[in-house]
Amino acid sequence: MRYSRGMAETIFLKIIAGEIPCHKIYEDDQVFAFLDIGPLSAGHTLLIPKEPAETLDQLSDESAAALGRVLPRLSRAVLKASGATAFNILQNNGASAHQAVLHVHFHIIPRFPDATEGAGLGIEWPAGTLDNETGRRLAADIAAALSEE
Ligand code: 5GP
Repeated sequence: MRYSRGMAETIFLKIIAGEIPCHKIYEDDQVFAFLDIGPLSAGHTLLIPKEPAETLDQLSDESAAALGRVLPRLSRAVLKASGATAFNILQNNGASAHQAVLHVHFHIIPRFPDATEGAGLGIEWPAGTLDNETGRRLAADIAAALSEE
């Protein structure tokens, strides 16, 4: 499979095309799922669209819907096979947001609080506060931007 949108061919496009091996879990017309090569825990899975969008905001509604249809089902399978009872969905966009591979991907990361083969995702959550005036302005700005989509 080759794409000619002028974007760099990523490692994930090569995986979809079968040019690089992976532990494949699922494939349909629009999405592909496989095990992460550097798992944070056993069962760490990646779900990607076949559409070669770099970040989520660049993805078509069709591919987004296809990912959304598969994600809960795939998450249930990861939980069942790994024995985990909790998991994180991680989706990074942009280098400063920790995105290393410039092709949209959802991480499904089983969480094992006491596991030796990887506990799962550790999260730093430096929560701030939201005052009413800032909240009103931000919500209005985002709603206005959304209405222009
Ligand atoms: P990001 O930081 O971009 O959200 O995560 C990219 C993920 O892709 C990482 O967890 C990394 O281990 C995984 N990855 C990178 N290259 C390969 C590869 O060649 N094969 C597989 N299966 N996973 C990869």
